[in-house]
Amino acid sequence: MRVGAQPKGTRVVLDLAADLYRRIFYLPEPFRIVIDVSTRPPLRDDKAEAGGKREVRRVAIDPGHGGNDTGAVGPTGLKEKDVTLDVAHRVAPLLARELKIETLLTRDSDVYVPLELRTARANAFHADLFVSIHCNASDNGRARGVQTFSLAAPHDAESTSSSETAARENAARAARTGRDVGDGQDASADDPEARREVAAILSNLNVGDMAARSRHFAELLQRASLASLAPRYPDTKDQGVKGAGFFVLAGADMPAALFETAFISNPEDEARLATADFRQKMADAIVNAIRAYREGK
Ligand SMILES: [Zn+2]
Repeated sequence: MRVGAQPKGTRVVLDLAADLYRRIFYLPEPFRIVIDVSTRPPLRDDKAEAGGKREVRRVAIDPGHGGNDTGAVGPTGLKEKDVTLDVAHRVAPLLARELKIETLLTRDSDVYVPLELRTARANAFHADLFVSIHCNASDNGRARGVQTFSLAAPHDAESTSSSETAARENAARAARTGRDVGDGQDASADDPEARREVAAILSNLNVGDMAARSRHFAELLQRASLASLAPRYPDTKDQGVKGAGFFVLAGADMPAALFETAFISNPEDEARLATADFRQKMADAIVNAIRAYREGK
């Protein structure tokens, strides 16, 4: 590695012994430039295997929020951060036992973990899938049901409501950096700096392929959750699959989806989220979606 002073800055050169795959991007807070060098392509062709199966050996499970960041809080005080961690703790042993899949939890206790560190951990783990678990919330207390998001570039966000969700799920990061993100504002859309950050990360990925796989996995997850809930909770509302500019998904090196289990802001949904039965069904849904994805469905 060589470092040389230039008239307009400093040049850093990495001399590599072979023509390796590399990916260069930056992460904020603290600002750093990350150079990944690898002997294998960053995106393997997972459809090349026999029988149309996809290779899924490791999965990163990301329980949303934690520590001082409680996430959304329900009418009776149920905290999103506690629900998401419990669902994650139900998913991990199931994946190990039923699918022989290794799991990384981006947090394993009630601690605050910055969003970009969550995907960095998943990338270092070489996860084949990334599942972020959350609870939905709305100013409209009547909103209910299950919803799944996959990453889209900020200008591709599909609706105002997905921008609102992105703003809420990105809010901890915005608060920490002193940015003003109020209700109904998309952190990325209204903040040129955040938009540049997300764009810089996206530009380093094979965006089309990654977005398509993420979207496909998000659809499997949405379908699996409705199937898991239907027998016991037949009134579950299908809020559909949407794209949004989630910072937590932007740095992921693998297909990623953000799963909104139910609306914690709604009294009936909150009551369900408080039960072990509902949480177990959410965990079952995640495991079933991963199984379906691996089987090439
Ligand atoms: Zn959340």
